[in-house]
Amino acid sequence: MKNPFESTILQLEEASKYLDIPNLVMSLLSKPERIIEVFLPLRLDNKELKIVKGYRVQYNSWRGPYKGGLRYHQKVDLNEVKALSLWMMIKNAVCDVPFGGGKGGIEIDPKTLSKTELKELTRLFAKMLTPNIGPTVDVPAPDVNTNAKILDWFVDQYEQNVKTQNSNVKFTELKAVATGKSIENGGSEGREEATGLGGYYVLEELIKKMGLKKPLTVAVQGFGNVGSHLAALLCQNGYKVVALSDSKGGIYDQSGDGFNIDLVKTCKLERGLIADCYCIGTVCDLAEKKKGEITNEDLLELPVDILVPAALENVITEKNADKIKAKIVFEMANGPTSLEGDKILHGRGIPVVPDVLANSGGVTVSYFEWYQNMHGEHWKLEEVKDKLKEKMTDAFKNVWNIHEEKKVDLRTGAYILALRRLHESYKKLNK
Ligand code: NAD
Repeated sequence: MKNPFESTILQLEEASKYLDIPNLVMSLLSKPERIIEVFLPLRLDNKELKIVKGYRVQYNSWRGPYKGGLRYHQKVDLNEVKALSLWMMIKNAVCDVPFGGGKGGIEIDPKTLSKTELKELTRLFAKMLTPNIGPTVDVPAPDVNTNAKILDWFVDQYEQNVKTQNSNVKFTELKAVATGKSIENGGSEGREEATGLGGYYVLEELIKKMGLKKPLTVAVQGFGNVGSHLAALLCQNGYKVVALSDSKGGIYDQSGDGFNIDLVKTCKLERGLIADCYCIGTVCDLAEKKKGEITNEDLLELPVDILVPAALENVITEKNADKIKAKIVFEMANGPTSLEGDKILHGRGIPVVPDVLANSGGVTVSYFEWYQNMHGEHWKLEEVKDKLKEKMTDAFKNVWNIHEEKKVDLRTGAYILALRRLHESYKKLNK
């Protein structure tokens, strides 16, 4: 089996057959421009020293500064970060924001760290990356296990480093070194829910095109930033979210009525586990509760209209793609479907809305945040939402049109759109 990076390069090559792109350009696009590997000397609370490995892959800068999140996870490795940075390059071109692609990560389970240790680790990472990042160079953001608090620490450290070197720099612009910050620290209204909201706008367009009528049942894997916001929006807008999960397992409402996401959110906060939230808002006994519990593997194979992987990569593969019963796979996680899994779903006529389109709302509002910082502006939430809706609808329509014109699946359609735009930028830079 190919790793996600190699698979994506193959898919890009497949898409390039529909365009007239020189081999040199394809060859440049198949390698990152720069890979940064760091070893962070983290002093633990017990005074022991732990060396922690981190990466930043600056994949491509033809369309603008490198842009992409920072992931803290015990399974982070160079291949994963390379794949994630390549997807960012494609995504930023699909949703047409003026950024290239990048991604970073630290190989650590942040749940094993105290708050002080997590803050120290983030500061060390920012210190190490300072010479290679900046508002017009490389702009990180949140990803799995990172959030506004962590990005605030990151930006604060970066500002300290830059100000000690140069006292004339403009303060507001420095904030644009990263997005997904808290509002008080220069973040944008709507950034936290942006990925879920962007996904919701795309899904609404898709069901119109497919002529599907609500209520539609949905299973969402992953209940973090992305999964929880999307699930709440779907629940408020006529969908029935019948299955949910986190890393420890999930719950399934066989009646088809769906969960009240606000109640599940509160329950997850109180009890820590989605699997403990089946009975929330109802009276049910232990036997019923047991019946409602499912594994993450079961969730993927449920008979629902829409399956939303919103956790990690490679969960739909050649091992389970023929067992998927959903009518649509809507990729809110990055890279949840392997190349082999994708082919099986395509062969079975199940449309897969690719990550580079479905979850591009996050980076779109990151662009809005960056723009506001660079221009000293602060937009109201409604303005952010309106602009996001327009961007997501445009991106969806562009991908859909290529899918219809060229008779290709939606992922190939998105890759064709991205390649076309990347090639245009390359030509402008090399006139
Ligand atoms: P998060 O850390 O907020 O949440 C991740 C969720 O996935 C948690 O509920 C966790 O319990 C669950 N999870 C972890 N391992 C799992 C497993 N093995 N099986 C099932 N669930 C598991 O992360 P997030 O920001 O919501 O990111 C989720 C996905 O969306 C990632 O693929 C990320 O790259 C992608 N994404 C995030 C953003 C963003 O703005 N945060 C933007 C675009 C794409």
